[in-house]
Amino acid sequence: METRVKISEVCCLCYGAKRALTKSVEAKKEGKNVVLFKEILHNKRVVQELQKLNIVEKENLEDLQKGDFVILRAHGEGKGTYRYLDSRNIEYLDCTCPNVLSINKLVEKKNSEGYKIILIGKYGYKTGKMHPEVLGTSNWCDSPILIEEEEEIDTINLSSEKYFLAVQTTFSQEKALKMIDKISKKMQQFGKKFEFKDTTCNAQRVINEKSVKLAKEADKMIVVGGKNSSNTKELFNNVSTYTTSFFAESIDDVKALIKDKKIVKGDYIGLTGGASTIIEELNEIRDYILKVL
Ligand code: SF4
Repeated sequence: METRVKISEVCCLCYGAKRALTKSVEAKKEGKNVVLFKEILHNKRVVQELQKLNIVEKENLEDLQKGDFVILRAHGEGKGTYRYLDSRNIEYLDCTCPNVLSINKLVEKKNSEGYKIILIGKYGYKTGKMHPEVLGTSNWCDSPILIEEEEEIDTINLSSEKYFLAVQTTFSQEKALKMIDKISKKMQQFGKKFEFKDTTCNAQRVINEKSVKLAKEADKMIVVGGKNSSNTKELFNNVSTYTTSFFAESIDDVKALIKDKKIVKGDYIGLTGGASTIIEELNEIRDYILKVL
């Protein structure tokens, strides 16, 4: 039987990540001394391409200096970062995704109106590793209540009178809605005022939906993306519910899958990539599989 490879109708770089990447390259072309503040994308290949353009990355705020043209990545930053840059007259371009920016502004506003903020997101409940977006958003309000798992809801401290809840953009919407429902009931039970906004990202949701659609028809799925990318991991978990799925960080991982006979001639293979994967990687993988199988 003939091997088939199909790329998900919607996948790869979301507009937030694409925008940050494009702006960085554009600024470099304009002759600016572009410095990325932290990893712009969880994508080794993109990072290497940027290094070739002499675009450097700095991890610590203290390493940023006058003369740098700092790119703030799509994940968003806390207020402290802006204060630091402004106080030292360091030029920067805020490439925070508009979705994340609006959440940060919203929690800041609600916080100033006296609401205690609850943020559903990957703050490291089990891993101890906080997602940068959660870290950034947390800095726009006073000590928010962070929740990642349903089991934590019972322990929410209800000493405030009103609460506002937002969700990390790349958090699973399905999981978040279940948690919001439970929190809402708890608030009602204790007579607290409760408002929320489902701030999960639509871009991510469409990638998930289209990838799951493909997973339902394909024999096997390959999810391409960085292993430390939160949304790629989520995508992998979603598609692997429907078919045998593999994670590939690069074409080398796909070569290993072929060598180990995990994917073989005659398979119908679905390909998708998370919000930090570039479409060129998927095209290359598709062409390679079709060439060798
Ligand atoms: S996943 Fe959504 S919220 Fe996050 S950067 Fe991309 S478009 Fe923005």
